[in-house]
Amino acid sequence: MKYTEREVLQFVEENDVKFIKLMFCDIFGALKSVSVPASELSGIFAKGLLFDASKLSGFMNFSSTDLILFPDPDTLALLPWRPQQGRVVRFFCTIKYTDGTVFEGDGRTFLRNAVEYARGKGYNFQIGTSCEFYVFEKNDNGHITKIPHDYAGYCDIAPADKGENLRRDICLTLEQMDIYPESSRHESGPGQNEIDFQYSNALNAADNLVTFKNVVKSVADRNGLYATFMPKPLCDRPGSGLHIMLFCMKGTENIFKPRLDELGHEAKSMIAGILERVREITLFLNSTASSYSRLGNSRAPKYITWSHENFAQLIRVPMINTDENAMILRSPDNTCNPYFALGLIIYAALEGALSGAELCSATNLSPDNIAELTERLPATLDEAIEAARSSSFLADRLPENLIEHVLNEKSREAKEYAECEDKEMFETVRYFY
Ligand code: GLU
Ligand code: MG
Repeated sequence: MKYTEREVLQFVEENDVKFIKLMFCDIFGALKSVSVPASELSGIFAKGLLFDASKLSGFMNFSSTDLILFPDPDTLALLPWRPQQGRVVRFFCTIKYTDGTVFEGDGRTFLRNAVEYARGKGYNFQIGTSCEFYVFEKNDNGHITKIPHDYAGYCDIAPADKGENLRRDICLTLEQMDIYPESSRHESGPGQNEIDFQYSNALNAADNLVTFKNVVKSVADRNGLYATFMPKPLCDRPGSGLHIMLFCMKGTENIFKPRLDELGHEAKSMIAGILERVREITLFLNSTASSYSRLGNSRAPKYITWSHENFAQLIRVPMINTDENAMILRSPDNTCNPYFALGLIIYAALEGALSGAELCSATNLSPDNIAELTERLPATLDEAIEAARSSSFLADRLPENLIEHVLNEKSREAKEYAECEDKEMFETVRYFY
């Protein structure tokens, strides 16, 4: 534990905090928040704060359900973009029913359980993330456009790269919140940027990702711009991915550190475990129609393959002989709920390791040269839904009513998408968030 409730209350008292934001994600990963006066906090630690979940589809449309938010004191962070007199502090919350049981759609609890389960088997997962996003201009009325903020390319420098100051602002804001980006750059698309994060424990990594998106959007807005994490905002330009670095310690050993130029058997089995389950969990990694416009283009993977060197494969494991070596899963995008996504990836890796799964050989071809016989990721939201529907892996790990609700909501969305004549407009209106 980082902070006790008492330490948090003292912090609030001593730092001129006037408002508390109780933050939580719905099952689809959308960030929600309720604000309360700072004076309420000690009561809320004890009794929680009631909210009406029936208004939000991301809380499973319960017709008459109150849920209760309990702030997690460890997630205390000042919001640097809010006033510095009469400050605002946020917490992520545990979501419970009124009888005290945890709500099945609480992703933080799902991920915490996955991490605990792994620890019980002797594995300690750490996660790094690499997150891409586009920045667009707003018009004179302050409305969003699809005009990119600049026309620079990969790793370009200012003045072509107009995102430099924005990324600086984002990184400094994150540091004030104790979140440490490892590097940042211009990505390949016009107005496209990338920020990478150091490894941290899985729950922190997911919390930080949610915070990061909130910071990027707030900082862009403050600069009169619009940032979007949509997987494919411009149909003829590269998409935006969320690459996940999975790093795993067993005792004092990093499983993904190569030995004598070879990966150890546990590393191979973990990769095999993810390859085995990735089709089934794709709905939870790539959860919108726009996600599938990205996969298969501009180095976003399409086939279920892995490689040491080749960036177009689903999983890449660099052969760098350091304690930081990790495997990188390249398919996810920012439409996922990171808590469920990371939890499922950990469970799949563990299943591979515990069953001693055999890893197929590496693929070092460009996607254009891979035989069509190679198994591929779902190509549409519909295919991802069907793969999830028939998955015993998901059924064993996620609550039944959560799966059912996700399948229903996503099927409705896929149908609306299929019936819509202007797909680009549908994606823009629905996902340009
Ligand atoms: N933007 C690509 C994607 O959608 C990845 C580019 C890169 O290799 O960083 O995953
Ligand atoms: Mg990138």
